[in-house]
Amino acid sequence: MSFNSLGLSDALLKAINKKGYDTPSPIQQKAIPPILEGKDVLASAQTGTGKTAGFTLPLLQILSEGTTKRHRPVRALILTPTRELAAQIFENVKEYSEFLDIKSAVIFGGVNQKPQAATLKRGVDVLVATPGRLLDLCNQNILSLASVEIFVLDEADRMLDMGFVRDIERIIKLIPKKRQNLMFSATFSKDIKKLANGILTYPISVEATPENTTVEVIQQKVYRVAKAKKTELIIKLISEGNWQQVLVFTRTKHGANNLTKKMISSGITAAAIHGNKSQGARTKALEGFKNGSIRVMVATDIAARGLDIPLLPHVINFEIPNISEDYVHRIGRTGRAGASGEALSLVSADETSFLTDIQKLIGMKIPIEIVEGFEPDPNASTEPIKQGGARNRSPRGGGSNRSSKSSTKSSASNSGRRTRDRRN
Ligand code: AMP
Repeated sequence: MSFNSLGLSDALLKAINKKGYDTPSPIQQKAIPPILEGKDVLASAQTGTGKTAGFTLPLLQILSEGTTKRHRPVRALILTPTRELAAQIFENVKEYSEFLDIKSAVIFGGVNQKPQAATLKRGVDVLVATPGRLLDLCNQNILSLASVEIFVLDEADRMLDMGFVRDIERIIKLIPKKRQNLMFSATFSKDIKKLANGILTYPISVEATPENTTVEVIQQKVYRVAKAKKTELIIKLISEGNWQQVLVFTRTKHGANNLTKKMISSGITAAAIHGNKSQGARTKALEGFKNGSIRVMVATDIAARGLDIPLLPHVINFEIPNISEDYVHRIGRTGRAGASGEALSLVSADETSFLTDIQKLIGMKIPIEIVEGFEPDPNASTEPIKQGGARNRSPRGGGSNRSSKSSTKSSASNSGRRTRDRRN
């Protein structure tokens, strides 16, 4: 199948060509035709599947075929959970609309709102936004959503995890009832289905799993290790393996900072990326990581979510996640584009139950290795580590752009599922 056969306009085909894509990805093949027909679409797809182009291309086509009002009110709203994802989608929208008369903008929290307000005033057709800042600007009457024709909810599962459900409900009230809705989510829990029921009308369901996140093709290994020896072991593995591009996950922001410092003092270029870092610092870290000047990027789950990093040979879980699905998301970052990848997890005694849950979820036992001199402590307790008091409570996405006053209930505590550490 080619992009030509999907019914996209010449201007979009030109932009696609410029990006160098030859074939639409499965999610693009499945989602683009019904979106172009004006249908609501519920898509199961995560980062790496080409989902962004899957909704952006038809959205741009629909807008470019409609009438543009002189003052350019927002006609398409794309809601995403994190700043990084918002920035990436905006980049994509800009690239795909290069040959169209479409204006786009991105707004997210954590940065001065003035330039964003000025951009909005000049008129914007496509707005990419995180919920908190969007509501802030609407509440100040800087932004109106009364002309929205297409509403996209991206990474809906992560939105719920981050406690954005109330914000989404508020936003829905600000957009016209008659609109086209597109919802993307990597997982489909009861809460996601409930959310979808409240938003979408007779949706077409499409799904695609990224080729490379099938866990079987990723070489996984668990290093059983004493907790106190983890830092030394990770430095040894990276140094002796001479690994040049490694994404490391830690459970907390504090842990990410600490580990980054220790890497740097051992002569490994590293940067941390998490919710407490400024947008500028995150962008710089990501750029350095992509261009090879930074060997190790240490990230928390929420900060890493949606990062567009093309090919990663190594992913290391410095701590394994307490939410098993996060493990699958994390290791899905290795072996992209068909290349082989390695996902390593350093597991101390207190993480044993998390490992058991992960193995249950992926349906396989991960091979275990023990490095001489780094043996697990036989006397260590296997009691699970405390989750910063967050267990069974509403998780707060530290990577979010929201102020602390707007905490809402989340879906993650549903069905006994563990909640993400609030220090993430
Ligand atoms: P996404 O899942 O939207 O985050 O996209 C993942 C990556 O795939 C991005 O780097 C896109 O630029 C790239 N991509 C999207 N569609 C295609 C395609 N049809 N062919 C090749 N690469 C693509």
